[in-house]
Amino acid sequence: MAPVINHSENVKLIIERHVKNNQVMLFSKSYCGFCSQVKKIFQSLGTPYFSLELDELDNGSDIQAELTAQTGRPTVPQVFVNGAYIGGCDDTHAAYSSGKLAQLLNPPDDQYDFDLIVIGGGSGGLAASKEAAKLGKKVAVFDFVTPTPKGTTWGLGGTCVNVGCIPKKLMHRAAILGESLEEAKKFGWDVPDHVQHSWEKMTGEIQNYIGSLNWGYRVALREKQVKYINAHAELVGDHKIKAVDKKKKESFHTAKHFIIATGERPRYPNCPGAKEYGITSDDLFSLPYCPGKTLLIGASYVSLECAGFLKGIGLDVTVMVRSILLRGFDQNIAERIGSHMSEHCGIKFIRPCVPTKVEEIEPGQPGKLRVTGKMVDSGEEVVGDYNTVIFAVGRDACTSGIGLDVAGVQVNSKNGKIPTMAEQTNIPHIYAIGDILEGKLELTPVAIEAGTLLARRLYGNGELQCDYLNVPTTVFTPLEYGCIGYPEEHAIEKYGEENIEVYHTNFLPLEWTVPKKSENVCYAKLICLKPENERVIGFHYLGPNAGEVTQGFAIGIKKGATKADFDATIGIHPTCAEVFTTLSVTRRSGESIKQKGC
Ligand code: FAD
Ligand code: NDP
Repeated sequence: MAPVINHSENVKLIIERHVKNNQVMLFSKSYCGFCSQVKKIFQSLGTPYFSLELDELDNGSDIQAELTAQTGRPTVPQVFVNGAYIGGCDDTHAAYSSGKLAQLLNPPDDQYDFDLIVIGGGSGGLAASKEAAKLGKKVAVFDFVTPTPKGTTWGLGGTCVNVGCIPKKLMHRAAILGESLEEAKKFGWDVPDHVQHSWEKMTGEIQNYIGSLNWGYRVALREKQVKYINAHAELVGDHKIKAVDKKKKESFHTAKHFIIATGERPRYPNCPGAKEYGITSDDLFSLPYCPGKTLLIGASYVSLECAGFLKGIGLDVTVMVRSILLRGFDQNIAERIGSHMSEHCGIKFIRPCVPTKVEEIEPGQPGKLRVTGKMVDSGEEVVGDYNTVIFAVGRDACTSGIGLDVAGVQVNSKNGKIPTMAEQTNIPHIYAIGDILEGKLELTPVAIEAGTLLARRLYGNGELQCDYLNVPTTVFTPLEYGCIGYPEEHAIEKYGEENIEVYHTNFLPLEWTVPKKSENVCYAKLICLKPENERVIGFHYLGPNAGEVTQGFAIGIKKGATKADFDATIGIHPTCAEVFTTLSVTRRSGESIKQKGC
């Protein structure tokens, strides 16, 4: 729209009229780069603006002089939103980042206390709440950690930060460093034979770091003007929750929309003594004493990762496996991981076996526990004594006792998960994200992506939905495993063996040659779909730095890379990742994949 200027009008009135009549009013110059930046901000928010280009007006310099007199700023741009003076380019950027700008553009709906209440301040909940606030919404996050049966509790940030990815990866790092000390000798370092590890020192440092993250999250919420309430929330009406804090004080709050992001907590099996004497990953990372001789029960991510780092810091570790390792993952690779853990690391496996009772023999920190198990095949009883027993037999969605029934939200009664369509539950104003979703991956970046995109769809111009396909992931076992897409058996089941070509090889990292580490444990595999020009539908890497290697290839797989694209990519030498650019042996050919040297 062309500026409507009456040249006989007093410049003061011109400014007043434009500020009053336009939700976003920019005093700008057509050639000014800072003015363009400000316009881009409003374009990204999808908000129309009106700009007077002062360099194109006869009385532009008079208007600028009057603006300077009113605001004290001699330059353009000068930005007004809903009549409020924002400032220049830097001020507009700052107001955009803090969410103030969006709040001015979208004043809250007075009918409710908040535009959005998020229940759960973990990976997904924090991401969604910060994004909604940035888009101008009045947001509250309720986060409350119910103590474990052992009384362990933690701060803001949810599972990943406090009792998941972060402490797990740092303890995995401690284990890798231990192994590196041995290797270092072969590279000329004079390392003493008996190097001691201190559990207390390691957990102390890691917990300090986690404390700083908890604090950082609180600050970030405050900066974004998200109200954080440390209380357990429960839906008690269509648009209403009851919150109960640590001191059992109740309060009630209303909102137009709700996002449920309550995550999961470890499950205990129905086995006498499990809850009294066992612990879970929720207790392990802040355990005030070294766990000593440890039995892990369960054979998935959590169990195998914890087993790996506990062994890596020098403990005696056993894993009790009910059936297979890493259910849901490529089983050929799961077995390779298991063999490496047992043959190279010295972790003991009892399988297939289930626990039948846990008894205390000696109290203490750690004390001594006796575990009885039953071999699944033979029914034979096995008994062993351990200092610590860790249950890692799965996690339950935190969807009971939070009023979902009161609000009418549909929950799968078998697994407690919430079915959604684009994160919307069957109740239109109630959404769900993260680990509690039915049929979706339980990973931090997935929860963050879903929360961020949902907020953008609800309150911004966003149209993108979270893409749950081809999500890369890594299991941080001693030999790390990164994968994207289909496990081999799932690919065969879906497309038929005749339509699948599997390229694979063992490889030996150069770094492993001098310390003479095992030659044929690292492994690379691409699963390709023959009718689609050998499009890669499964990527599997077993070796050092799996997360770093897999992340890079994820973009290629997402973009539909074919085997020919991998072949046409020039490798970086000498690295492990380069193996994917030269894969030539197919499983069908039956040729040997064993390697010697690099
Ligand atoms: P959470 O992060 O669990 O947050 C939910 C929050 O809601 C919690 O703070 C909870 O206390 C709170 N809450 C629950 N009910 C209420 C209520 N009624 N009122 C108020 N607050 C409530 N993922 C990876 O991507 N990489 C990894 O390496 C990795 N390692 C892991 C290791 C372990 C040992 C575990 C257990 C998990 C790991 N994960 C990993 C998974 C990852 O932690 C989760 O996928 C992620 O935290 C899920 O985020 P969320 O927002 O759904 O829930
Ligand atoms: P899972 O549900 O994946 O695995 C549970 C394991 O416990 C299985 O091995 C299962 O055996 C076994 N089990 C179940 N019940 C019993 C029982 N009564 N007695 C003996 N064994 C039993 O749970 P996790 O806790 O390992 O992981 C939960 C989620 O957390 C994962 O899906 C993952 O997305 C996420 N996570 C991600 C990580 C990462 O990204 N690196 C790391 C850790 C967790 P069976 O196979 O026989 O059923």
